[in-house]
Amino acid sequence: MPHDGTKHERMSGRPSAPGGCGRSYTGPVIAPSAAPPEKIVAVHVGLLAWFQANQRDLPWRHTRNPYAILVSEVMLQQTQVDRVVPYYLGWLRAFPTIQALADAPTAEVIRRWSGLGYNRRAVNLQRTVRAVVDDYGGVFPRTVEQLRALPGIGPYTSGAIAAFAFEQDAGFIDTNMRRVLHRLFFGVDVPSPVATERELTALAVEVVPPGEGWTWNQALIEFGALQCTARRPACVICPLQRDCAAYPAIQTAIRGLPVGARLKREGTWEGSNRQARGRIVDMLRQHPTLSLDDLGSRVRPEYGESDRPWLYDLVRALERDGLTKVAEEGETYVVTLP
Ligand code: SF4
Repeated sequence: MPHDGTKHERMSGRPSAPGGCGRSYTGPVIAPSAAPPEKIVAVHVGLLAWFQANQRDLPWRHTRNPYAILVSEVMLQQTQVDRVVPYYLGWLRAFPTIQALADAPTAEVIRRWSGLGYNRRAVNLQRTVRAVVDDYGGVFPRTVEQLRALPGIGPYTSGAIAAFAFEQDAGFIDTNMRRVLHRLFFGVDVPSPVATERELTALAVEVVPPGEGWTWNQALIEFGALQCTARRPACVICPLQRDCAAYPAIQTAIRGLPVGARLKREGTWEGSNRQARGRIVDMLRQHPTLSLDDLGSRVRPEYGESDRPWLYDLVRALERDGLTKVAEEGETYVVTLP
């Protein structure tokens, strides 16, 4: 869930990033098929003014370095902003350049990711920069199409790098952007959206104000994180209320959602394979080599012989994801970081 802001705290200060950050928009607009041009103008003006007044001072908003942008985007994919900030800064100290990350042993990369979760992201990040080194001499390609062709880069991340590193007018959507665009242009998005992914992606591309790709996309992300949140949109004080297709019905729709859905999801985490995968990698960060059974007893206190096939499947799956190495040794298997 990229950029989820439901629990974010606002940070003090204002960024001094070059280009875009803090500017107000007065330029021309392109009308999307989903809305009349005058509505687009109103949304541009309202959202960009809101961003100017409310944006948080986040370190990745001070750079146009595509590698640093990539690092921030990958970290933000599953982790909240306030947790990402120290990891982002630490990562760039440990691996300050593409080359440094490409050259680092993968085990070291996985260790450095410790605490962020979803360890596959670390391996994929290194795969991406190795491809940039191998295929582009260490210089990031600039077009969305070239970026999209890199391993580990999806439609969101390619658009984000194009917009945030190269200040292109790229349109793309993550969870927050999708929600904001849906509510503004298509209406209430819960319990289920009325617009398709294709429609929302097309809209995202069409509504970027020319020359304002950096600011516009940052503003959409920030607005979704702080103002138009999933469960508690601040409609009463929203500058876009008059132009919002979801207002006021969104408040009633949210109140009608079942309570406790989140608790149920958390309940399924305990004892899940996803939890076990995270523990396996954590154990290997602490103990470079472990036999399968030794690993099993550290991952699951009640581990027994009957759990061996389950654990074996997990470490093999992690191996396919580039997170472990499994080798036969005598009558057992030993597991290491790659
Ligand atoms: S009025 Fe409410 S639903 Fe509409 S954009 Fe503003 S915060 Fe979101």
